[in-house]
Amino acid sequence: MNLGQMSGPRPVVLSGPSGAGKSTLLKRLMKEYEGVFGFSVSHTTRNPRPGEEDGKDYHFVTREKMQEAIDNNELIENAEFSGNMYGTSKSSIEDVQAQNLICILDVDIQGVRNIKETDLNPIYISIQPPSMEILEQRLRDRKTETEESLQKRLEAARIDMELSKEEGVFDLVIINDDLDEAYEKLKSVLIEEIQKVQDAKK
Ligand code: ADP
Ligand code: 5GP
Repeated sequence: MNLGQMSGPRPVVLSGPSGAGKSTLLKRLMKEYEGVFGFSVSHTTRNPRPGEEDGKDYHFVTREKMQEAIDNNELIENAEFSGNMYGTSKSSIEDVQAQNLICILDVDIQGVRNIKETDLNPIYISIQPPSMEILEQRLRDRKTETEESLQKRLEAARIDMELSKEEGVFDLVIINDDLDEAYEKLKSVLIEEIQKVQDAKK
């Protein structure tokens, strides 16, 4: 199976610590550019948060189901994050690519490394918080995590912040301090691909 398209827009991988603002930026992008982006819906074993929809935000599955998908070679990558399993299925990417949309993947740093071993050829963007203190505050204010889950995410964030500084891992690192500024940066790096999709529709 070939996930690296010869034509069509390049996929985009968004990564960065939990709480850095990936979903916030992504939702804004998908709203402004309706019919341009398609979200690759990952599998996860974590519980849905209030407002999250199965099949839209994630495919919420049991560990058994996740393991089955791994065993059946249905995933292009999978990782353990903060005590839960996460993975990207081939079909979640293909569903988006079949519509000629820019496929957006939201994955952790392990996902970034594993996707680099595939032929997907995405644009890699890291969203980073201004500081650990601000990240912690945003995660606390989001009120989605238990204290244990919060601490695990902060630990993972320290590792992510270190690794994402490495040369050549990301095409662009955006510090999400002021949301509007971060959003403009994200848009500007994607404008060429956005244009491609819009032109194809004409
Ligand atoms: P992620 O998807 O990376 O885990 P979220 O998009 O859920 O992060 O953002 C974490 C929290 O921080 C959310 O409550 C969100 O509203 C808030 N947030 C995101 N960006 C900013 C920003 N630039 N300034 C202040 N708060 C922000
Ligand atoms: P959350 O539980 O906050 O939705 O996500 C936690 C972390 O898992 C985030 O860093 C997010 O990017 C990552 N993640 C979400 N889906 C996937 C996936 O399919 N694969 C990998 N490797 N990470 C994922």
